[in-house]
Amino acid sequence: MAILERITRNIDNRYWDPGTKAFPVKNRYTAGVAGQWFFEELKENGKIYGSRCEDCAVTYVPARIYCERCFKRLEKEKDWLDVGTEGEIHSFTAVHRTKTGEEKEEPSLVAAVKIADGLLIHRLAGVKPEQVEIGMKVKAEFKPKDERQGGIEDIKHFKPL
Ligand SMILES: [Zn+2]
Repeated sequence: MAILERITRNIDNRYWDPGTKAFPVKNRYTAGVAGQWFFEELKENGKIYGSRCEDCAVTYVPARIYCERCFKRLEKEKDWLDVGTEGEIHSFTAVHRTKTGEEKEEPSLVAAVKIADGLLIHRLAGVKPEQVEIGMKVKAEFKPKDERQGGIEDIKHFKPL
């Protein structure tokens, strides 16, 4: 259904027939100006960028184009910085079920990784759930450059140092 197409029956807008195997959304998601630059740096250079507001002494990760505290514009050329690929675990959870609800043989880990003053949510590898600690130092491991597509999945996972 096109975005301007008018729905004439309410039921048409209420359910998705899983038999069609495709979710009926045709529009594209955009990450915005800052998001696009942030993901381009992941893809092209394997770098995680933040942006710093000196007035507020805050370094946002992922990088933003405005400071959310004072609304100052954060210029890519002046205020953006490579924050490195290391951070620390701010929080984490163990995932025991697959997307379709089956029990996993081994739980996988998802962590909120603190880098500068921001957080990235990502997979955690190379460690068992009982070994993870808040504050544990971790490092991003990127996919090979030819496999990167300009999204957060360009980071394969974070691993303990
Ligand atoms: Zn600010």
